[in-house]
Amino acid sequence: MEAKTASGARSCEGLGYFVRTFGCQMNLHDAERVSGLLESEGAVPVGSAEEADIVVFMTCCVREKADTHLYGQASAMASAPEPPSGLRTVCVGGCIAQRDGERLRQQVPVVDVVFGTQAIARLPHLICEARTGEAGLAVDTEERYDGFSTDLPSHRASKAQAWVPIMYGCNNFCSYCVVPYVRGRERSRAFEDVVDEVRRLVADGAREVTLLGQNVNSYGRDLYGEPRFAELLRAVGDTGIERIRFTSSHPKDLSDDTIRAMAETPAVMPQLHLAVQSGSTDVLRRMNRKYTRDDYLALVGRIKEAMPDIMLTTDLIVGFPLETEQDFEDTLSLVREAGFSGAFTFIYSKREGTPAAAVDDPTPRDVIQGRFDRLAKLIEEQSWQANQRFEGERVEVLVEGPSKKDPRRMTGHSRESVTVHFPAPEGVEPADLVGTLVDVHVEQARTWYLAGSMVGEPR
Ligand code: SF4
Repeated sequence: MEAKTASGARSCEGLGYFVRTFGCQMNLHDAERVSGLLESEGAVPVGSAEEADIVVFMTCCVREKADTHLYGQASAMASAPEPPSGLRTVCVGGCIAQRDGERLRQQVPVVDVVFGTQAIARLPHLICEARTGEAGLAVDTEERYDGFSTDLPSHRASKAQAWVPIMYGCNNFCSYCVVPYVRGRERSRAFEDVVDEVRRLVADGAREVTLLGQNVNSYGRDLYGEPRFAELLRAVGDTGIERIRFTSSHPKDLSDDTIRAMAETPAVMPQLHLAVQSGSTDVLRRMNRKYTRDDYLALVGRIKEAMPDIMLTTDLIVGFPLETEQDFEDTLSLVREAGFSGAFTFIYSKREGTPAAAVDDPTPRDVIQGRFDRLAKLIEEQSWQANQRFEGERVEVLVEGPSKKDPRRMTGHSRESVTVHFPAPEGVEPADLVGTLVDVHVEQARTWYLAGSMVGEPR
């Protein structure tokens, strides 16, 4: 895997690198692989893009904001002070790189390397090429299916938690989404490879894994002819890992078998993020989601019957082209009926090249903003309500670290994935708590977090 230079040295020896990530967990995971790969080539992490010889932007084109951030931050590199080596290499990876290729360089001339979603392993070579080549530009957005970024070295941000991609790409073609175009079709990793990776992570101190994919419920269909996600959950549950989460789930593929596996595998956490996007069957049809409002609510009913304590969260798009007031009301009522405890809410943003982008929508912007504000308020109320059940209770927390503002205030997530804050007890070093499981007695339940005191010993 190493990219040796002519002198035989590792290709990035002694160079400082900095990775900035936009977008989803898959991108965060890819960013860990980029860091691991650069370190295996001798690069060392530095604290900011300004100090770095190699700056990598991992991009996402699912939302418009991420595009804007990339263009702003990458352009700012043109006026950044000279780095220690005297030469800065600016690299852009992820979805925007895959989508825009050479065009990116025309729009942001400071960019030297453009690497697509399937070209991470080639990054050190591309950096070499850019640093030594006359043109100073290296682009690789070729589609190749001969390996996964998971096979690359990784620099994990947390020892106790790990992301484990189980599949890449998506076959669903929701009418607003670019993922199938920029990440390609579904490709699952071999069953044994995933389970072996989790076993190795457990041996290395991991306590929680999040299984990742654009559509985890259809895991295995491309390799084995039928989905094997339920079976995978059970096998991962047998590795000794203490907590299992997974994302993203498409409602049309979440089978009763998977619901049973979730309920019967103790390590699967009582939490599910299940994107619904809209509560209107008509909008769902135009989104090409392949389920109706009733299908979704029936699925939620089956999930809650099997796991009465589960906390459900979702994604919602407001202002999809031609959404009517009645469609939006249907979304509000579905949010109430499903009883979501949280949601990522977005105002629809047009993604070039998708079918929905061709639809002109006369709905005024302020009407859409008004709907968005009403939805956000409802989600806030439901989140506050859902958290009340924890007041006075004891919750198990996997400790992630001290808060940025107060080094003695610890933060982690409960089994239900609610953020929990608590002070490190007198005489306990905050650093010693990181990565441990502790019990917290909840004294305050707020809208977005719980606060309380640690009880008993960390384990
Ligand atoms: S399921 Fe739909 S929204 Fe999700 S990645 Fe696939 S096409 Fe995009």
